[in-house]
Amino acid sequence: MNFGFTQEEENIRKEVRAFFQKEATPELVKEIAENTGATGPGIGRKLVQKMGAKGWLCPTWPKEYGGLDSSETISFIIRDEMAYAGGPVSLVGATMAGPSILKFASGEMKREYLPRIARGEIEMILGYTEPQAGSDLAALEIRAEDKGDYFLINGQKMFNTHAHFAEYHWLGARTDTSAPKHKGISLIIVDMKSPGITVRPMTSIAGGKTNEVFYDNVKVPKKNVVGEVNRGFYYIMTALDFERMFPFGGVRRILDELVRYTSTTKREGKLLSKDPVIRQKIAEIAIEVEAAYTLYYQQAYMLDKGQIPNYQSSMQKVFSSEAAFRAFDVATAIMGPRGQLQRSSKWAPIDGEAELHYRWAIIEDIYGGTSEIQRNIIALRGLGLPAR
Ligand SMILES: Cc1cc2nc3c(=O)[nH]c(=O)nc-3n(C[C@H](O)[C@H](O)[C@H](O)COP(=O)(O)OP(=O)(O)OC[C@H]3O[C@@H](n4cnc5c(N)ncnc54)[C@H](O)[C@@H]3O)c2cc1C
Repeated sequence: MNFGFTQEEENIRKEVRAFFQKEATPELVKEIAENTGATGPGIGRKLVQKMGAKGWLCPTWPKEYGGLDSSETISFIIRDEMAYAGGPVSLVGATMAGPSILKFASGEMKREYLPRIARGEIEMILGYTEPQAGSDLAALEIRAEDKGDYFLINGQKMFNTHAHFAEYHWLGARTDTSAPKHKGISLIIVDMKSPGITVRPMTSIAGGKTNEVFYDNVKVPKKNVVGEVNRGFYYIMTALDFERMFPFGGVRRILDELVRYTSTTKREGKLLSKDPVIRQKIAEIAIEVEAAYTLYYQQAYMLDKGQIPNYQSSMQKVFSSEAAFRAFDVATAIMGPRGQLQRSSKWAPIDGEAELHYRWAIIEDIYGGTSEIQRNIIALRGLGLPAR
C-alpha cells in the first residue's frame, strides 16, 4: 500500500496551484460563489477555457476529445486544487455529463460535444429535478413525445442550477408513459436556445442562482438522445455517481485560514490559538479533512482500476458535505458574532468566507441527492440490506 503521490502527480499539483494563485482573483471567486460553484458566464468561462487549453478540464479523456489521456488521480488533484483556490467546483459538462457521454453515447455525439466541453466552450445544466420528483427521480413527468424525427417536449424542471447561462440541458424526460416508471425515461441533450424554453431564477440560501425551466412545445431532434431511448434513468444514475465525487479543497482552505486567523487574532489579550477548546475544535476539523481525502482519492484509485465508484461516492458525498457543515459551523463560532458578517462587510473575518460557506454547506447536503438518500444507497448497494 502506498498513500503518497508519484513525482508526476506532485509536479502537476504544484503547476495547478501556481496557476490558480495567479488566476483566482477576488472577482473570480465572487462570480463562482454567485453561481453556486459554477463558472458563470464571465471571467469564470475564460478561466475554464484557459484550463481547457492546457487539457486540465477533462484530463482523463482521450486526446482526440481534448483530454490528456491522464490518470484519474491527476484529474482529482486538479479539481482539489481548483476547489482550494475558490474556483469552480460544479463543472457539469466536464465532470458529470461528459464522462457519461464518453461511456454511453454514439461516436457522432462524442465528436459533437466532448471536444467543445474539454475546451471550455460549452457548459451543460443538470435537468433532473421537478416539483414532484427530487429524491424519487423516477417520478419525473416532463414529457418528450415521439413525433417521427423529433421529440416534442412539454413540462417543468426546477433547481436547474446553470440554466441562466449554460448552452445545453442534460434533460431527463419521459418518453414512454406505459412502461414502469424507471424504464420510460430518456436522457436528451437540448439546446437552451430552442424556441419554447423559459428560464426563471430562484435564489438559494447561499445567495447563488438556481432556476426553474419551462418547456412549451419544444422540438428536439431525435439524434440528441444519449445512448438508447428509455435507458435514461440508468445513465442518470451513473452521471449522479460522477456528480457525488466532489472535491473537498474548500474545507482544506478554511482549515488553513483558521490556523492563520487564530494564530494572529487576540481575544481579551490572548491569542485564540492558545485557547484549549479552540485548538481541540480545529484539530477535529483536521481529522475530518484527512478522512474526507481518503474517501475522495479512493474513488480516483477505483476509476484508475476501471471500476465506477457507486456506494463509495455516496459515502464520500455524505461524509464530505456533513464534515463541511461541521467545519464552517466551528469556524463561524470561533470568530464570534463577527463570524456571521457577510462578505460585503469590512469587519467580516477572512472576508466572510466562513459565513458564506456555512450557508453553502447546507445546500451541499441536498443537491446530488440528500444525505438520507446517500445513506439509503450505502445500505442497499454497499451493505446489501434489502430495499424497503
Ligand atoms: C441549491 C440547489 C441546487 C440544485 N441543483 C440542481 C440541478 O442543477 N439540477 C437538478 O436536477 N437538481 C438540482 N437540485 C435538486 C436536488 O437534487 C433536490 O433538491 C434533491 O434531490 C432533493 O429533492 P427534493 O428537493 O424534491 O426533496 P424531497 O425528495 O421531497 O425530499 C424531502 C426530504 O425527504 C427526505 N427523503 C425523501 N425520500 C426519502 C427516502 N426514501 N428515505 C429517507 N428520506 C427521504 C429527503 O432526504 C429530504 O430531507 C438542486 C437543489 C438545490 C437546493
